[in-house]
Amino acid sequence: MPSSSSPEPSPAAPASRGIAKNIAARLAKLGLHTDAELVLHLPLRYEDETRLTSIADAPPGMPVQLEVNVLATEIAFRPRRQLLCRVQDETGVLLVRLLNFYPSQQKQYAPGARLRLFGEVREGHFGPEMVHPRASAVSADASLPQALTPVYPTTAGLTQVTLRKLIGEALSRTDLADTLPEELRQRIELAPFAQAVRLLHQPPAGLEDEACEEQGGRDSGRTFDTSVLAKGEGGKAFSQAWRRIRFDELLAQQISLRRAYAARRARGAPALPGSGLLTGRLRDALPFRLTGAQERAWGEIGMDLGEPHPMQRLLLGDVGSGKTIVAALALLQAVENGWQGALMAPTEILAEQHWRKLMLWLAPLGLEVAWLSGSLKKKEKAAMIAAVGEGRAAIVVGTHALIEEGVEFARLGLAVVDEQHRFGVRQRLALRQKGASPHQLMMSATPIPRTLAMSYYADLDVSLIDEMPPGRKPVLTKLVAEARRGEVVARVRAACADGHQAYWVCPLIEESETLQLKTALETFERLTEELSEISIGLVHGRMKSAEKSAVMEAFVSGQVQLLVATTVIEVGVDVSNASLMVIEHAERFGLAQLHQLRGRVGRGAAESACILLYARALSQAGRERLKIIFEHSDGFEIARQDLRLRGPGEFVGARQSGVPLLRYADLDDAALVAAARAAAEEMLRDHPQLAAAHLARWLGGREELLKA
Ligand code: ADP
Ligand code: MG
Repeated sequence: MPSSSSPEPSPAAPASRGIAKNIAARLAKLGLHTDAELVLHLPLRYEDETRLTSIADAPPGMPVQLEVNVLATEIAFRPRRQLLCRVQDETGVLLVRLLNFYPSQQKQYAPGARLRLFGEVREGHFGPEMVHPRASAVSADASLPQALTPVYPTTAGLTQVTLRKLIGEALSRTDLADTLPEELRQRIELAPFAQAVRLLHQPPAGLEDEACEEQGGRDSGRTFDTSVLAKGEGGKAFSQAWRRIRFDELLAQQISLRRAYAARRARGAPALPGSGLLTGRLRDALPFRLTGAQERAWGEIGMDLGEPHPMQRLLLGDVGSGKTIVAALALLQAVENGWQGALMAPTEILAEQHWRKLMLWLAPLGLEVAWLSGSLKKKEKAAMIAAVGEGRAAIVVGTHALIEEGVEFARLGLAVVDEQHRFGVRQRLALRQKGASPHQLMMSATPIPRTLAMSYYADLDVSLIDEMPPGRKPVLTKLVAEARRGEVVARVRAACADGHQAYWVCPLIEESETLQLKTALETFERLTEELSEISIGLVHGRMKSAEKSAVMEAFVSGQVQLLVATTVIEVGVDVSNASLMVIEHAERFGLAQLHQLRGRVGRGAAESACILLYARALSQAGRERLKIIFEHSDGFEIARQDLRLRGPGEFVGARQSGVPLLRYADLDDAALVAAARAAAEEMLRDHPQLAAAHLARWLGGREELLKA
């Protein structure tokens, strides 16, 4: 343990010793409770206060430091109350404006005072001005700082000066011993931890030049963004220090996820080896052959199930890659061994569709498939719950209703969660807890880049279906301006006249569900008028389940030709005769959403098309998303682009809690992610104490969430 060298201060030492209550509360807002957390609160940027500029030479819009004398100060109303000060140096006069100010600031700007001002000069109505500069008094002999000044993320009422002081104190009393074994550290060519954090908090004199170079030369202003410094050339001090920090953060994530994995793995589970008795019969009865990728995934899952430890596997595959049949085979293998299987899906429409499909596949084998959803009548529900509890139902399909209290399984051996990213950690846990220690299979159609999978799913084994069933034709994607809506309506008419079916997706209105509903109803009415000869159905989130499933059934059977829908059809819906999809106000949808929606068509033999209607005034982001979806059909490529646009935090947002978000590391650096992963394995195996110390330093008490 690194803390053995210095007895008193441990990584978890509270930072609040001797800190005023109000300051401690503000620190808490930033998540800073301990010395270790203060040490890892790293600067956003640096300001160069090592030199002065004159008023006349200050480049406009660039942060500079001036040394000035105050000439005059007044409170003016133009129209808001503000403090106006005229200051001067040898080269000119400047107006300083403070829009909100304290009496203490008014005092600071007393005429005759000599001040150092840090801020940007710009051209105002009355000549050059600075708004809200940072000001400090200069005494006669005050020398300039020798090194760059760090600027930290902060919150109201907590000044940079205070933060800097507290972090400095934390640095001096915290044990900064390395948590990496020395040999490993050198092998990966990482800077020592203590050296890295000291350099980032208190850069030694002389690094201004390195900072300047990274940001394109001396004259380009006087603040240095850490994100740029972090990516600087290999040998540079800043980039070396940041590399260590990023590695450490990734390592902590990997260690905690791998530990959670190992802890779950250590539990016992019923071994469910495959006999092929039932799975073989299903495979023989299928109208298609599994793709190579499906075979591989099914092989991995089948093996896992045969082990006396709970499987924790994620089945990843693009929309339409055929995950359902793989799940069905897994469920059957549990049944072969005399255990029950459960399949949970996030929406009623999807769950019901799964249920119908499983009945179609499994009823010929003499199996009972139960159906459980919130909308069942009391009596039906009670009967289903009884069938599950008594073990008559071999397989149960349902929505969240599966994890409600009162649902008890006789012998749950395998829990499958479809579209797992739609569920929270707690819900997935709740399903698992319906059995003693069932195997678990999660499925997701959100294809994520490899580094992201490696990072965020390090607590799972991953099977990948990276191949589409044969015969799929690419979906033709068209971008059409809203003004040409008429042509699109004509196209829908023609498709339906040809015996095909179509979706019309209503505009997404995120801010208001009521408005969204209103828009959906209007769209439906308008299309009903425009396409009077076509049978049109409407499905939206506010409908009663019975109504919803009646509409869906009518669409599946072909009775309804055009389905007007909100995003309730986003996941899972599988109607192969549908060959046209129109998405209205496509610019409002996210990339993953558009990809999922488009995946609803192109499932049959007919040529399919997806028409993205967009409004004339496109935002930059909207334009960029549409361009990506237009140019790419591969879900992984779209995910990569999405990751680039949004960053990983938001990208895996739905997984929420569960995983500590990365503050400093990004996942661009695949090599670093891979190195962290390997190092985590190595440390857990050979240096468990250092691994624990590393976690304590980086996660403190926050690891609990991962235990699920
Ligand atoms: P997803 O991975 O999006 O859940 P599904 O499991 O719904 O995809 O499969 C999409 C469609 O492809 C379904 O109609 C399914 O029956 C069909 N399918 C699955 N596997 C194959 C295959 N190997 N060959 C042909 N069709 C397949
Ligand atoms: Mg699916």
